[in-house]
Amino acid sequence: MPIYPKKERQIFMIQLIRGFKDILPGEVELWQAVEKVARQLLEDFGFKEIRIPIMERTELFARSIGEDTDIVEKEMYTFPDRKGDLITLRPEATASIVRAYIQHRLYAKDPVQKFYTIGPMFRRERPQKGRYRQFYQINAEIFGVQSGLVDVQLIFFLVTLFSRLQVSDVKAHINSLGCPKCRPKFKTALSEFLESVSDKLCSNCIRRKDRNPLRVLDCKVPSCREAMVKAPSILDFLCSECKEDFDEVKNMLEKLRVPFVVDKNLVRGLDYYARTTFEIQAESLGAQNAVAGGGRYDGLVSELGGPDIPATGFAIGFDRLTELTGLDAKQFYQKPDVFVAALGGQSRLAAFEWVCAFGNQGIRAELDFGGKSLKSQMKQADRLGARYALIVGDDELAKREAVLRNMQTKEQISVSIDGLVENIKGIIIAE
Ligand code: ATP
Ligand code: MG
Repeated sequence: MPIYPKKERQIFMIQLIRGFKDILPGEVELWQAVEKVARQLLEDFGFKEIRIPIMERTELFARSIGEDTDIVEKEMYTFPDRKGDLITLRPEATASIVRAYIQHRLYAKDPVQKFYTIGPMFRRERPQKGRYRQFYQINAEIFGVQSGLVDVQLIFFLVTLFSRLQVSDVKAHINSLGCPKCRPKFKTALSEFLESVSDKLCSNCIRRKDRNPLRVLDCKVPSCREAMVKAPSILDFLCSECKEDFDEVKNMLEKLRVPFVVDKNLVRGLDYYARTTFEIQAESLGAQNAVAGGGRYDGLVSELGGPDIPATGFAIGFDRLTELTGLDAKQFYQKPDVFVAALGGQSRLAAFEWVCAFGNQGIRAELDFGGKSLKSQMKQADRLGARYALIVGDDELAKREAVLRNMQTKEQISVSIDGLVENIKGIIIAE
């Protein structure tokens, strides 16, 4: 049966889905440039690319992100496939990377592994500036190292990347979430505090305060924020190992001259998170000011059925990063090196062959297929911003020569048709 009933089939403009977007030429160059810089820096820091599917069993996200989070509660695109199995468009990448790490026993040879991945994520939230339903992330994860120094390395990486991308006014917000040894005491103190301010909390937080009190610290509702100013700080509850770890993180960040603030309300709601957690914020972004978030999730690998291996990582919001970068898309827009203007049937065929050969040689070449006059072909070359025009007519072809015009200086030279592609490549490269 057709998915669309026949009588309803009519011609109308189909628009993209709300919260989704196209990234068109003119803008995509900026995305490519940002990705290129990020990829290079990730490789320089020893991360290996891993590509994971964009769909997984719903259970993977429910278990790793947690039933009690905004993402799982209300943001996931979940649907039964044709056999009725529940699948979800990935809202983040860490769960899949951990799954792959366990499934392929990537820890067997060496538990220390560093991965990165870049791609689309899907969350059905209210679309607004900086918040889309399909958005992109750059993800990095480090497995197998317990030391807080690798958390510092991740933060240092982010700050370095942002500076290369000419993003200004970014600051790292950091906190420690303690460990399963010291966090329960904090949770008890927090719960007591929440009871005392419960009349000031939003309805979501009233629910959270019993199910997952840490998440109240993260609430963005102004009245909750105000009520939480006097909340106890987890930093006062850290055990000696966690305190030592957090001191080392802060000292090393200072040593590396990474600007940071300690933010006691920066939390993650799940038990497998531990110790360092961080967010990179950019003031210029306005309300959605987090451009990257991350932290240590020591318990997740074993939670998902793998061995007890610590891990830490981050996710950068690619869309927000492109809004922040000082790089200019125009600077990366690739114009044709040469526009081949042909007059006459024979010349057009020759021109077509050259254009194919140019492409093969890494020279960007364009041609008019519509039989336009020389004048309008030259106009087209101008409009496209071609550096050179190569002009050939049937008479020139018979004499085995063509004219190469520098579109900027208007200088023209005669070039032989024998070895033409190589010749012109030489001229263009020499420039
Ligand atoms: P937020 O508080 O903005 O909702 P989050 O805690 O849900 O962020 P993470 O899951 O930590 O976000 O994702 C890391 C980064 O991905 C964020 O810092 C942000 O830059 C980006 N991001 C998250 N959700 C979206 C979205 N819907 N659209 C665009 N970027 C997003
Ligand atoms: Mg969110």
